[in-house]
Amino acid sequence: MGEKTGFMEYTREHVFEREPGSRLNDWNEFSSPYSDEVLRIQGARCMDCGTPFCHLGMEINGVTTGCPINNLIPEWNDLVYRGKWQEALERLLKTNNFPEFTGRVCPAPCEGSCTLAISEPAVSIKNIERTIIDKGFENGWIKPRIPTSRTGKKIAVIGSGPAGLASADQLNQAGHSVTVYERVDRPGGLLMYGIPNMKLDKKIVERRIRLLEQEGIKFITNTEVGKDISVDELKSTYDAVILATGAQKHRDLQIEGRDAKGVHFAMDYLTSVTRSLLDSNFQDGQFINTEGKNVIVIGGGDTGADCIATALRQKCNSVIQFSKHPELPMERTADNMWPSYPNVYTLDYAHKEAKTIFGTDPREYLIQTKKIEKDANGHVKALHTVQMEKIYHEDGSYHFNELPGTESVWPADYVFIAIGFEGTETSLADQFGVETVNHKIKASVGKYQTNVEGVFVCGDARRGQSLIVWAINEGRAVARMVDYYLKTVAV
Ligand code: FAD
Repeated sequence: MGEKTGFMEYTREHVFEREPGSRLNDWNEFSSPYSDEVLRIQGARCMDCGTPFCHLGMEINGVTTGCPINNLIPEWNDLVYRGKWQEALERLLKTNNFPEFTGRVCPAPCEGSCTLAISEPAVSIKNIERTIIDKGFENGWIKPRIPTSRTGKKIAVIGSGPAGLASADQLNQAGHSVTVYERVDRPGGLLMYGIPNMKLDKKIVERRIRLLEQEGIKFITNTEVGKDISVDELKSTYDAVILATGAQKHRDLQIEGRDAKGVHFAMDYLTSVTRSLLDSNFQDGQFINTEGKNVIVIGGGDTGADCIATALRQKCNSVIQFSKHPELPMERTADNMWPSYPNVYTLDYAHKEAKTIFGTDPREYLIQTKKIEKDANGHVKALHTVQMEKIYHEDGSYHFNELPGTESVWPADYVFIAIGFEGTETSLADQFGVETVNHKIKASVGKYQTNVEGVFVCGDARRGQSLIVWAINEGRAVARMVDYYLKTVAV
């Protein structure tokens, strides 16, 4: 590395965040990178550790460690330290199709497995990644790479989230003709409708889609495969099909009062707000508006946090988040093997904002919602809950006990359900005759091939609810398999 002792001389700078008080007045990104000079020094903290676990992506017991797309992190850290940004960009693009997404919203498992993080705060890898790619666009280093020859093979990708986009990008670059089908009005999957604008500006997503179009990929939106276009038509038109339909089948609450007005899935809330922002800067009024209202979010994950941040920008009157699990302690436990796992940096943005406005953390732990109470108009009025305790067993498993006498009533005007997703909607898989298990599409290990010849799967549709970086990993991997299939089996 350029500066061998950098890790001893410099401290970590976290991602620069605009002040919560001011950023709540707009929908722009809340984070922005540091200057070149600060980042150069951050690059110097990468310490020639010999075995850079940061770029060895793995999933152990559901926890990701290292970079799932094997980003060549120490190499571009060093190039940044030397001021060679364009070379750093070339190195970054070797493994990552969309660093502008991961550099903004990846929970950065690379930082969680940074060797330096054993004793010091990790290298600011994500911040450096984001700046490399942003510079690439700003300086015009990123240009459409239009394939010089075409193979004549046609591929349909169903779903335009990061998995579908990565597979389309790879296959297009290999010279195949790729058409991406998307059922909603804008491509991007959860990058577009799901992750809010203040975390990932939609102009960044649109810029990438435009680039992919210029490179030859065709996008067909407002078209649900299996409904607006038949599976048979698709099969007869294309040489291969990739199912990249995500895992957006909601998990729901089966409790009394669930049908009350004002109770929505988190995704419906988030989508309505982003769509209205993009369509008309909220002039159309076609969004769920929590202004002046009391909001409760049920579910303690990222999606719930995004609902909090959205409600705060709408100037809600109050917001509370129920989490079934206890707060993770910042010590090494079976629940949290990497206490420095940087998830805390991304999960926290909404909670910090809520604290600034209301003076308290909005999270309430170990709460079970028992009933939704309605008013005379059938609108939600309050949630009835009970406190729980989490009992661990010797083998690491656990169960919850309700604690008698802890019943509470929480007034609410809006309730957003953010308790995760069951998996992919299986109706399309059924039409293709593709096998599923527990709402995931089955594919042979490492091959991404379903039981139906020529039909492949990648991303959340195969692995269940996951991360953008895994979606990119799977998009790239399925593309290799489809390319091999087209060159060998379907010749
Ligand atoms: P998706 O992004 O879900 O895309 C699937 C697409 O397929 C959708 O656009 C859908 O409309 C389309 N589709 C489905 N069926 C059809 C059909 N029949 N015809 C046509 N189109 C169809 N991950 C992170 O790494 N960082 C984050 O900060 C983060 N925040 C998140 C916030 C929220 C609110 C949510 C819900 C998820 C978040 N995630 C985050 C997870 C991440 O977004 C997903 O893991 C990732 O988007 C999965 O990519 P995918 O391409 O497999 O599926």
